[in-house]
Amino acid sequence: MRQETRTPENGYHGAECRGCGKALRGHPYYMGKPAYLPLDEGGGQAKVNHYGGFVCSYSCDYRAALRLEQDMPGHGGQARLTPPLSTQIARRWES
Ligand SMILES: [Zn+2]
Repeated sequence: MRQETRTPENGYHGAECRGCGKALRGHPYYMGKPAYLPLDEGGGQAKVNHYGGFVCSYSCDYRAALRLEQDMPGHGGQARLTPPLSTQIARRWES
């Protein structure tokens, strides 16, 4: 499969998935603009994590949120997300 070169000329300006670190087309999250998946993955708009940052898939969304919660004082060591956030994330990726 052809590997696309990721440069500003074809839409990669530094956006990345917060879950897996994959390069997305668009500007970094803090610039406040949408980012898009690579064209060979459909090119759709990347979703935004509950705590901020782009995510490319349900598992990345879940993992990014869990990692953040694990870093919060008083949340240390939890193994999974709990409702309502876990439900919100699942709902975001339905359909
Ligand atoms: Zn990802």
